[in-house]
Amino acid sequence: MSGVSVEHPSWCDRSLCTATDLRRSGFHRSRVAILDPDPRTDLGVTVQLGQGTPIPGYRDSGTLLVDLTVHPGVLDPTDSGEEYTLILPADRASALGHLLVAAGRETVTGW
Ligand SMILES: [Zn+2]
Repeated sequence: MSGVSVEHPSWCDRSLCTATDLRRSGFHRSRVAILDPDPRTDLGVTVQLGQGTPIPGYRDSGTLLVDLTVHPGVLDPTDSGEEYTLILPADRASALGHLLVAAGRETVTGW
């Protein structure tokens, strides 16, 4: 089978993407953005966009999602420590981002 190729969102990192075959479901993934571990808490954060290919009959199957994961300990791929992940649709991720920016500004200007 040939001719039709998968269209990837501009943010999709092809090396992480599993949406490579129109005949099967898959997931577009962005590169992973990393907030290095805080030396005081050793907590690191990663953020990645993801979007599954739409599946007929599953209304939310093609929703763009934000994966925000907190990594206690060093951000090392071989680290098997626990992680805490929030999977957020775009509007919730944006709302959380605004809350963090507002809180961050308050800590700079509010003291
Ligand atoms: Zn893709």
